[in-house]
Amino acid sequence: MTNEELWQAVLAQIQFNVSRANFATWFRNTKILSKNERDVLISVENSFSKEWLSNKYSSLILKILRSLDKDIKSIEFKVNSKKVSVLPSTSIKKVKEKEKLEGPQLPFHEFTLDIKTNLNPRYNFDNFIVGGFNELAQAAAWAVSENPGFVYNPLFIYGGVGLGKTHLLQATGNRIAELFPKKKIKYAPSERFISNIVEAIRNHNIGELKKKLKEIDVLIMDDAQFFAGKEKSQEEFFHIFNFLYQSQKQIILSSDRSPKAIPALEQRLRSRFEGGMIADIGIPDFETRLAILRAKCEEKNIELNSRVLEYIASAIKNNIREIEGALNRLIVFQKINTKSPSLEIAKKLLENLIAPPKKTTSFKKIIQVVSNLYDLQEKDLLSSARRKEIVRPRQIVMYLLREELHASYPSIGRKLGGKDHTTVIYAWEKIDKELKNNDELLTEINLIRQRLYSEF
Ligand code: ADP
Ligand code: MG
Repeated sequence: MTNEELWQAVLAQIQFNVSRANFATWFRNTKILSKNERDVLISVENSFSKEWLSNKYSSLILKILRSLDKDIKSIEFKVNSKKVSVLPSTSIKKVKEKEKLEGPQLPFHEFTLDIKTNLNPRYNFDNFIVGGFNELAQAAAWAVSENPGFVYNPLFIYGGVGLGKTHLLQATGNRIAELFPKKKIKYAPSERFISNIVEAIRNHNIGELKKKLKEIDVLIMDDAQFFAGKEKSQEEFFHIFNFLYQSQKQIILSSDRSPKAIPALEQRLRSRFEGGMIADIGIPDFETRLAILRAKCEEKNIELNSRVLEYIASAIKNNIREIEGALNRLIVFQKINTKSPSLEIAKKLLENLIAPPKKTTSFKKIIQVVSNLYDLQEKDLLSSARRKEIVRPRQIVMYLLREELHASYPSIGRKLGGKDHTTVIYAWEKIDKELKNNDELLTEINLIRQRLYSEF
């Protein structure tokens, strides 16, 4: 592989990990300047990009490089002074000030104030594949886009990571913008929203912020679970929510779990969230995963052997983002080699993406993830306290210790507040039985599993 091909391969993968605006901003005019066995020197446009890339993206870049070439050990960035188009220093300062105010991860395109809706045109209904796992959510979102404010309000969509919540929310916003060009639409992840509220309170201009928010016709808030525990922000949001709701403005929310399962969400806000339509997105079945793959191939104008597609669809089950990542890797191969990968090559190329999750979880990790999800102290789970809000998460811990670590019932009992093994068996049976017909619990357990086995 030449340096140029290698960098193309890296960029192709980065595109899947960062927003379009970010990609255009930070990766434009980058290339590999030189490379020896271990080190790669990457040329960038200006010193600001250099700083940004090395702070925010160097580990991602290195990870991708290493997945393509295991010998690479380090990367460095160098300003390519031939093509300097350094931003004037005042604007650098401005961007940095804004960054301080609005958080570091935001691509700076997105936080310039003149961007009105924050929507990404890449997401629409046409490229959103519908199957049993998401049809209710899709139908509800479609109905809302036809008649915002009047059908389901709020619309609350929940489901696991990488299953299309952001896509659907944004598609809804984009369609409303198309059908109702006069409506003011605002998309924001809840963290952004919260940090704006916190900042406004600190600067004593919450009134102004509220006034601005009340002018919105369609408020789309992604990942609402981050409101958990943020009392002041919840209170302010509650008032804004009520105002918008009473003025028949549309509110659309997403979360990684149902409102009921978000701990430390104020009851009144929870009941507002539950007051409209709640739709979940589940996990696509094999046929739907295959249909998604076929559609993405068509979109990217690429043909892959159906055995290869079937392989991906059977190996990656519960994350569409990962399915796209796998596909992307094969596309890169195809571009570089100008031929489709065979099944054998595909298996090799996807080895580290598809390898069964390493069972590296532990007792400690299970306690940590469960206590975090249910907003409890770790010591509560380990105690023998019998308060209702602890008993159930503790039963979930028991279930997971058995399922994930194959621990014996008596040993689980000993670790969790000195319980008898019959209590553990009871807990396991209860959760196991409930999982068969309680989708909410299933989502929660899936979420816990994702966290147990994710790298971060
Ligand atoms: P979430 O917000 O639930 O974590 P995203 O909406 O970011 O997930 O989806 C992850 C990726 O998978 C995105 O690139 C998205 O376009 C794609 N995707 C998700 N669901 C679908 C779908 N039903 N059809 C086509 N692409 C999808
Ligand atoms: Mg999302």
